[in-house]
Amino acid sequence: MVAMWDLQDFDGHEGVHFFHDAETGLRAIIALHSTHLGPGAGGTRFWHYENRETAVTDALRLSRGMSYKNAMAGLPLGGGKAVILADRNRTKTPAMMAAFGRMVDSLGGRYITAEDVGICTADMVEISKQTKYVSGLPISDKGDAGGDPGPFTAMGVYLGVKAAVKYKLGRDSVEGVHVAIQGVGSVGGKLARLLAENGARLSIADIDKDHASKLAGEIGATVVGLDEIMRLEADVFSPNALGAILDEVTIAHLNAPIVAGAANNQLATPEDGQRIFDRDILFAPDYVINSGGIISVALEYLGDGDVEEVNRRVAQIPERLTEIWEESDSRKLPSADVADNMAEALLGR
Ligand code: NAD
Repeated sequence: MVAMWDLQDFDGHEGVHFFHDAETGLRAIIALHSTHLGPGAGGTRFWHYENRETAVTDALRLSRGMSYKNAMAGLPLGGGKAVILADRNRTKTPAMMAAFGRMVDSLGGRYITAEDVGICTADMVEISKQTKYVSGLPISDKGDAGGDPGPFTAMGVYLGVKAAVKYKLGRDSVEGVHVAIQGVGSVGGKLARLLAENGARLSIADIDKDHASKLAGEIGATVVGLDEIMRLEADVFSPNALGAILDEVTIAHLNAPIVAGAANNQLATPEDGQRIFDRDILFAPDYVINSGGIISVALEYLGDGDVEEVNRRVAQIPERLTEIWEESDSRKLPSADVADNMAEALLGR
């Protein structure tokens, strides 16, 4: 048996908590990477994992990503993440969400949760009946910060794609720019709409084919196969499904000069940042471009500003990305490494 501390993705995590609720059978992991800058904040993922090791790896990697993301977004929050191990049918009940809420509460505020893949605002409401350490709740007033973080993430990614198009292709708008989007769920779907509204040409792929076709009909996109999307000749490849999709094989086949999307942990290994750099592909470090949602979640939780303030901070994402790309160019270092170095300095590591 390999001990937690010896796992490849263990990165000095402050705590990794394993939970089981006898009544509902719910199993969850809450990983706290760092509380150096504040309580560990990050969403809950509800996913069916083929094996438990993958769930642990996901929790370790995602929580580390949250430390980096929160630090780079200038938030007084550390990094944490929860994964709930769903069954094959992804059965979810209010009782399960309540059990999960009690798990979050047991950590006494060291971890603050919100939505991630497979979790919606209604789930957050159930969770919030058991714990106050929760954000991403529905908002009563339109001007308040908070609610579903997806639209803010999508807006940040849209602005990031626009900045990448400007930096790499020298174009001031996305009009006529061909973007290949992998995953058109909460974030990818809204991103597709924003890009379409601004004249981009879109190719989309999603395992939910009906949903992809419906969206494509509404916004004038072309649906392509799941295997095709990453190899498509396009101006931008935008990953908005799951992580670890950029590896030695897929990077060799990329056919776009820009990779910019919301998916967390896009690089399968740290070496893949170098591989993308060596292919002269402009890479937007995921935890920088996808920080719009956590900015909204954080300001809601901290009671530190309204929706206008959230939008103001989301609008700063392109500046941060451009700073990273410029340093990457001048130091001949992968953008992923430049971002990691910046984040680690902020984390005191
Ligand atoms: P979601 O579950 O709403 O959407 C994900 C979509 O990807 C779904 O439509 C799903 O069918 C599709 N998908 C899954 N595997 C696929 C595959 N192999 N090929 C094509 N499509 C596939 O999740 P979301 O909230 O939109 O998040 C998407 C990504 O962005 C995740 O990696 C998430 O961690 C990250 N992210 C989300 C937020 C947020 O605010 N929701 C914030 C930061 C990062």
